[in-house]
Amino acid sequence: MELLKGKAAMVTGGTRGIGYAIVKLYLENGACVALCGSRQETVDKALDKLRAEKPEYFEEENSRVIGLCPDLQKPEEVEKAVATVKETFGSLDICVNNAGVSARESLYTYKPEDFANTMALNVNAVFNCSQAAAKVMKEQGGGVILNTSSMVSIYGQPSGVAYPASKFAVNGLTKSLARELGKDNIRVNAVAPGVTRTDMVAVLPDEVIKPLIATIPLGRVGEPEDVANAFLYLASDMASYVTGVVLSVDGAART
Ligand code: NAD
Repeated sequence: MELLKGKAAMVTGGTRGIGYAIVKLYLENGACVALCGSRQETVDKALDKLRAEKPEYFEEENSRVIGLCPDLQKPEEVEKAVATVKETFGSLDICVNNAGVSARESLYTYKPEDFANTMALNVNAVFNCSQAAAKVMKEQGGGVILNTSSMVSIYGQPSGVAYPASKFAVNGLTKSLARELGKDNIRVNAVAPGVTRTDMVAVLPDEVIKPLIATIPLGRVGEPEDVANAFLYLASDMASYVTGVVLSVDGAART
């Protein structure tokens, strides 16, 4: 079943990991997708990978994929990217704010500029994209904004305080914007992944990852596809009465 047939989506952080899995699943479900990354080079690499796997998505007459690399911290660049999606596909129905960074630094050595940088991408950029997307969605009669939160937005984490703080803020944006934008037929939800097998997790040393897995009731880390499935449900009309939720996809991990 093509749950997103006729819809146009924009996915930030779409070049790899969870974002790339969302891009693929949305395309499989009939959507047109703007894959966004931080650099043209990584966007091109991701598009090449996708083209090799699914050349049919790139057919000249009805290509369903474009690549963009707006600076998400610059509202004017984000607005331009949103306008490009609308021009190319005719609408912007789904905006996935997925780009994010994390660092595990002790409070005692945390540099204020590192704290600010994490907030700038994980929170300010979500605000910028939500604002630009909501303007277009309101005009066209509705849409869906989805944010990637994290398990740590519920439990906190014992180091690298900017990351959990930023994801608590993402939940705040999600719940508040759901209430503000409901009247414009715009749903706003978040997915809170647990430990998921992506580059962000690959850099963690064994002594961190192994004890973590031991505490997960489902006995494994999540796959990007596990998380993407939640993004598919929330983007689709199957979730037409769901807004303001932070959906955990974490195997019941509680660390
Ligand atoms: P990843 O490092 O594999 O991918 C991060 C993505 O963000 C990449 O596409 C990258 O291009 C993009 N990005 C990074 N800096 C950027 C910038 N300055 N401007 C624009 N884009 C930028 O990570 P991932 O694990 O796939 O993470 C995706 C999201 O999932 C993040 O928001 C992350 O916080 C969240 N998350 C991940 C996990 C996990 O275990 N992997 C768990 C919970 C939440």
